Amino acid sequence: LPLVGLKDERSMIGVGDTTIGAREIVLMAGPCAVESAEQMRAAAQGVRAAGGKILRGGVYKPRTSPYSFQGLGEQGIGYLREAAAEYGLLTVTEVMDERSLEVLVDKVDILQVGSRNMQNFHLLKLLGEIRNPVILKRGLAATVEEWLAAAEYILSGGNAQVILCERGIRTFEPSTRNTLDLSAVSLVKVLSHLPVIVDPSHAAGRVDIIPALAKAAVAVGADGLLIEVHPQPEEAQSDGMQSLTPEQFSRLAAELRPIAQSV
Ligand code: PEP
Ligand code: MN
Repeated sequence: LPLVGLKDERSMIGVGDTTIGAREIVLMAGPCAVESAEQMRAAAQGVRAAGGKILRGGVYKPRTSPYSFQGLGEQGIGYLREAAAEYGLLTVTEVMDERSLEVLVDKVDILQVGSRNMQNFHLLKLLGEIRNPVILKRGLAATVEEWLAAAEYILSGGNAQVILCERGIRTFEPSTRNTLDLSAVSLVKVLSHLPVIVDPSHAAGRVDIIPALAKAAVAVGADGLLIEVHPQPEEAQSDGMQSLTPEQFSRLAAELRPIAQSV
């Protein structure tokens, strides 16, 4: 693989006053889906209180069933932005296609490519033409080589601001939603210069093991974490069973600190 970005120094991606890929472990958190202004405000307050820097929330949701909640669309962007602004956070949301890219490009700080779109090469080429940082989630069944080749599409298009995100892959094991591939996290840090973050929420699919996976991710060298946090997980329109409460997130953030300092 030619890896456009293969160079000696590690890439550091600056957004606002935060740098991803530097020494600090960057915490990105918030609900799976933006649902209301109040929900986003409560989530943002919790993320900020725990020391998080980036507020997540999907407005275009890639749901398995077309009958499941599909996201608030453009209306949700306002809720995400306003809550982030109120609590001094940056924003990340998933871009699905050319049209959502046009809507989002000037409105959110970081664009997330979801697992289902990791090999949407048309979308990746378009993301090469913009300057927002892009979080590229690993495909549900993508090899490390395919994942890096997908990153290459964005890099070779001229956008150097790519952050890789391991979020679990499909394996024979059904007892977790996906299998968190921590080997891949260490490996892509060796094979590429790009920052790598871990999403333990979509890997686990259940709250109880998320703190352990998050700590393990930091221990193997992740540059940040993307975690689902909802003020009322039992009421969530999407992924409530894997959403931490703000209190659980705050406890986890405190437990991560000594691990981050020792790596
Ligand atoms: C999400 O972040 O809510 C999401 C849909 O993630 P993934 O693309 O990893 O399934
Ligand atoms: Mn989700």
